[in-house]
Order: sequence, then structure tokens, then C-alpha cells
Amino acid sequence: MFKYTLDNKRYHTLNYYLKNKFNCKVYKVSLNAGFTCPNIDGTKGYGGCIYCSKTGSGEHGGNPHKDLITQFNDVKEVIDKKWPNAKYIAYFQARTNTYAPLKVLKEKYETVLKIDNVIGLDIATRCDAINNETLDYLEELSKRTFLTIELGLQTTKEETSKLINRGHTLKEFDDMVKKLRDRNINVVVHIINGLPYETEEDMLNTVRHLNKLNIQGIKIHMLNIIKDTPLETLYNKDNFHILTKEEYIDIVIKQLELLKPEIVIHRITSDPDIKTLVEPKWLTKKFCVLNDIDKEMVRRNTYQGKYYK
Ligand code: SF4
Repeated sequence: MFKYTLDNKRYHTLNYYLKNKFNCKVYKVSLNAGFTCPNIDGTKGYGGCIYCSKTGSGEHGGNPHKDLITQFNDVKEVIDKKWPNAKYIAYFQARTNTYAPLKVLKEKYETVLKIDNVIGLDIATRCDAINNETLDYLEELSKRTFLTIELGLQTTKEETSKLINRGHTLKEFDDMVKKLRDRNINVVVHIINGLPYETEEDMLNTVRHLNKLNIQGIKIHMLNIIKDTPLETLYNKDNFHILTKEEYIDIVIKQLELLKPEIVIHRITSDPDIKTLVEPKWLTKKFCVLNDIDKEMVRRNTYQGKYYK
């Protein structure tokens, strides 16, 4: 059995990591704190990343019209019935969750930290949206709670980065990872497989690069084309190749084989909103994709880090 798992998985699951660390069920509650994004409002760019949905990639986040405590309690009420002793991580998911004056950030983070049984914060953001003042506060915060900063990278290929209008360079990303790690803050990185015109080698290179950085976790997504986005327009115009389920599984397994075994896999497929998904349709069967990855890893007799040197 792979070392970092509690079940039949052959990769370092988040479930394993959290159970080992906290010795109880830990549930992540997605919140929408109503932030915007510097890649949308013109500070860094206009229009955002070409795949970004109206919710700012927060499809499963809370309702921004409700306050944070209500959003949190709506979920907690349901989870408490199943796991009465669960602990919680509040996940600031939608858009760029460090993009506001420090006073506003503090007010939002500290509000949820006061809720009973919240043992950590998970904050999704961009590498170009954390200033030094915020970094100092995050460092202090990480000493009193389990703090994770999630950074979107998507790809290391600069050509693709321009095409998707990511709005920052690889160097800016690397520098921010270093700043966070110098402060001992956990870093989880998002990558996307199947970006337009990327080859398998491009996707493997992204993982090779991440291995060189001191990151603690990764979220691997499959590109989803969402209605009414610039990506949908590009797809309708150029009809670029969409990875089949089999191609995606093959690439994910090769990425896992390269990845350091200590890096925790927070996500290994995407979870799109069926109502707005254009392609790929196979993504709607998330558990089928997860099962097929497990089965294929067994068939290949492989595991995370097999080829990590
Ligand atoms: S950084 Fe996130 S919220 Fe901002 S445009 Fe890109 S995907 Fe959307």
C-alpha cells in the first residue's frame, strides 16, 4: 500500500493528511466573501482569465448575499448531523481572497476563526495580490491557526499564460511561493490540464517545476469550458483539442508519478457546475473519473513519486 493513504489510493490524499494531523474528521466549508479580482477590475488586467466563470471559480462557494457566519452555519448544520465531532476549515474560495485592505481581510478572517471548531483557514488568491503588510499578518495568523494559501498557477508555459490572460509571470509566482515559505506558511498550488494547445510534455513540465519549489499541496484540475466565457468563444472559433477522459487519466497518473510523495493531492479532477458546462461532458461523472484513476494506477502498478528523484 502507498505510504500516505488510508485506503486503496496510490497518492497522498488530503483525507489521509488531515486525519493524521487532527485525528478526527475535518471538513472544508467553502465561503464567498464577496471579493473581486485584480485581473478583472483593471488593476492587473481586464476581463479575467479566459476560463473564469461569473462566480470567479467559486461554483460551490457560499452565497455572497449572506454574511460569512450564516454561509458557514448553513453547511455546518448539515455536516454536524453526519459527523457531530467534526472540525472545520473555512475555505475562502471565490475570486481573490487577499485582494482588499488589510483591515477588511482581518475582519473577514477573524470573524470565521471565532466560530466553534474552526481549526484553520484556507485562502485562495493570486501571487500578485498579497502585499508585504498582508504577508506579515498571514505569518502571524499561521502561528495561531492551520493556515493554507492557495495560489493559481495553471501552467508554467508563458505562451499559454498569455493566451489564458493569467496576468502574472512565472517569476512572480515563484517569488511569492518563496515569500510564503520563508514565513512557514503552507502553500497549495492549482494547475489545469488540457489548456488550449498544451502538449503532454507541457503539463508534465508544470509538475516538474513545482517539485523544485517547497509546496505542500496541489490541486489538479481538468480544463472546463463554461458558457459565456472567452474560452467558450475561443473553442467555438478554433475547436482546439479537448482531452478525452482516457488522455486526462493518463496525464494525471504521469504527473503523480513525477510528484514528490510528500506533496498532498487536494484535488485530482474538476467539479464543474453541470448547468453551465460546455465541455468536457465526461467531467460531470466525477466519481467515475476518480475510480478510473485508482483502477488504472493499480493496473500500471504505480504510485505517486514513483519517478521522483
Ligand atoms: S484569478 Fe481567479 S478570479 Fe481572477 S480572473 Fe483568474 S480565475 Fe477569475
